[in-house]
Amino acid sequence: MFDEEDYLPLSGLQHFAFCRRQWALIHVEQAWAENLRTVEGALLHERVHDLAQSETRGEVRTVRGMAVSSRALGLSGQCDAVEFYRAQEGIPLRGREGRWQPYPVEYKRGKPKTGDCDALQLCAQAMCLEEMLACAVPEGALFYWEIRRRQSVVFDETLRQQVRETSREMHEAYRRRYTPKVKTGAFCKQCSLRELCLPKLCKSRPVAEYIARECEGSP
Ligand code: SF4
Repeated sequence: MFDEEDYLPLSGLQHFAFCRRQWALIHVEQAWAENLRTVEGALLHERVHDLAQSETRGEVRTVRGMAVSSRALGLSGQCDAVEFYRAQEGIPLRGREGRWQPYPVEYKRGKPKTGDCDALQLCAQAMCLEEMLACAVPEGALFYWEIRRRQSVVFDETLRQQVRETSREMHEAYRRRYTPKVKTGAFCKQCSLRELCLPKLCKSRPVAEYIARECEGSP
């Protein structure tokens, strides 16, 4: 179990799963670079959180910008939206009759990506909700702005184990304040920190080595 002062941002999970170096640059070295994607993403999240703190439409109660945390994972963050549906196995809500099943929804700027980064983040939110509300949260959804569609995500044991493992490794990397070396891939094209990370420059010969070689060749 983690103490509150050791919590890491839950949003870091997707960075860590996407590229550990990117995560370290942001969360260990506090580097940040805005590009079109991050600005659009920030605006989208602001809009989602601003719509209203909560609203009820028919049988669905939606709470926006809900703060969540988990002592077991050592993570804290915010859910874009948590929808509550009437369900026998749900939890009571203050001022409302009946029982309600929480269903987290995370809004993403682009379209569905390959890999589990987004599902991982959503599953971590669900695990936080389970710990805080003492109920099961078996499913949630990712909404992708570019295709204007929801994708449901089932929080199975494999995904949950991946969340626990990623979170554990993230805490370990943070404890060591370790920034991994550059290991580029096609995914770097989507990275907001590409200019800071300078993968090409880092892969080129060090300046000292270049000068030494040139001097060797001189008369
Ligand atoms: S440019 Fe590539 S290696 Fe560097 S932080 Fe971004 S994704 Fe990672």
